[in-house]
Amino acid sequence: MSALVRCRVGPLCAAARTVIPSVWRGKYFSSGNEPAENNTVTPMLRHLMYKIKSTGPITVAEYMKEVLTNPAKGYYVYRDMLGEKGDFITSPEISQIFGELLGIWFISEWMATGKSVAFQLVELGPGRGTLVGDILRVFSQLGSVLKNCDISIHLVEVSQKLSEIQALTLTEEKVPLERNAGSPVYMKGVTKSGIPISWYRGLQDVPKGYSFYLAHEFFDVLPVHKFQKTPQGWREVFIDVDPQVSDKLRFVLAPGATPAAAFIQHDETRDHVEVCPDAGIIIQELSQRIALTGGAALIADYGHDGTKTDTFRGFCGHKLHDVLIAPGTADLTADVDFSYLRRMAQGKVASLGPVKQHTFLKNMGIDVRLKVLLDKSDDPSMRQQLLHGYDMLMNPEKMGERFNFFALLPHQRLHGGKHQMNACQSKPSALPVAGFSELVWQ
Ligand code: SAH
Repeated sequence: MSALVRCRVGPLCAAARTVIPSVWRGKYFSSGNEPAENNTVTPMLRHLMYKIKSTGPITVAEYMKEVLTNPAKGYYVYRDMLGEKGDFITSPEISQIFGELLGIWFISEWMATGKSVAFQLVELGPGRGTLVGDILRVFSQLGSVLKNCDISIHLVEVSQKLSEIQALTLTEEKVPLERNAGSPVYMKGVTKSGIPISWYRGLQDVPKGYSFYLAHEFFDVLPVHKFQKTPQGWREVFIDVDPQVSDKLRFVLAPGATPAAAFIQHDETRDHVEVCPDAGIIIQELSQRIALTGGAALIADYGHDGTKTDTFRGFCGHKLHDVLIAPGTADLTADVDFSYLRRMAQGKVASLGPVKQHTFLKNMGIDVRLKVLLDKSDDPSMRQQLLHGYDMLMNPEKMGERFNFFALLPHQRLHGGKHQMNACQSKPSALPVAGFSELVWQ
């Protein structure tokens, strides 16, 4: 398992960048690092220049969507960008303990809500499948606890390349996969431990039913609209062709109001904001599902609680990358606004967090798990790797403070429901939610 520094959490903070208000065409809006290298005229750049020249400047959200998930040329569609040789590395790729503790979280929630006879584990944006693989290993190890529960795995993934890697990691393809590109379930199989697994392009295609949802570093890649406060009111940032330099894009401000401004809060005090309608739609769908059929959603990402401004940035080869240079060769991301996610739940479900990753993992018992693994291993390089992984995940200067955990749960989960009564109680009482409080096995 790789133990490299994850660079999508690079030390340079985008908030330090200057935002110069301007009118449509002609003035400059800066975001990202200094322009680069040779060979920046990518097929994606040509495609975007053609599009902009034909129909006019595009929003940052449209730019992100095209660059990341365009079915023909999108950054996520045909490459494996994770790991040492890729552009960034994530917690599950750094340490197995991360996924194991999340596996414990789902089991603890399943137990706290009455041990349903079946559940679906649904992951949004599963990367290389490492996280769900680690969770499934915990499910197998705790097979005696889960023995009468029917579990199925549902992965929401737009990347053809990554879905192939996930299938290889999780199924070994001992049982041949069923593929049907035209169907909402574009791939189906059975995991190494015999659990049914299916792939979808969107959450709306996943069957409804008692489910645990997981999204790790998924919301930060969803397209954001960017707005700048001006004396005339909020103006959206667009991307245009630079008339001064050939084959170059630049930021401009829209001359008038644009529809996505409806997502800005009336009492907003910042002078620059990013809004993510796609995140809102997904949170609404998750909330509706959880309110109707039970379960929970666990969302982990870097982000803020409605305080940051310009966080749109690119990562390539573990370095910050100018978001407008060589589009299609670098990851694009924006910090997740957890206050917005909470608002989008619209009171249909309860939310917990965000809490910092080091708090969440500590509450989940990371120290005990590390000790068990260290005691079991007499290979010095393995021990070194475990300690290094722990430091990466927990150190406040590294991922410990940058990443946050946030959960959506049915209201009755926090206020006590029919499953949460013991023989001595006349009224139900809510069991603490692990991670947000210390883990307690019932
Ligand atoms: N969760 C993984 C990977 C994070 S990278 C980890 O932590 O290691 C983002 C993931 O989201 C990738 O799997 C990418 O292909 C997927 N993705 C990006 N945009 C998506 C979209 N609109 N719908 C579904 N998956 C998407």
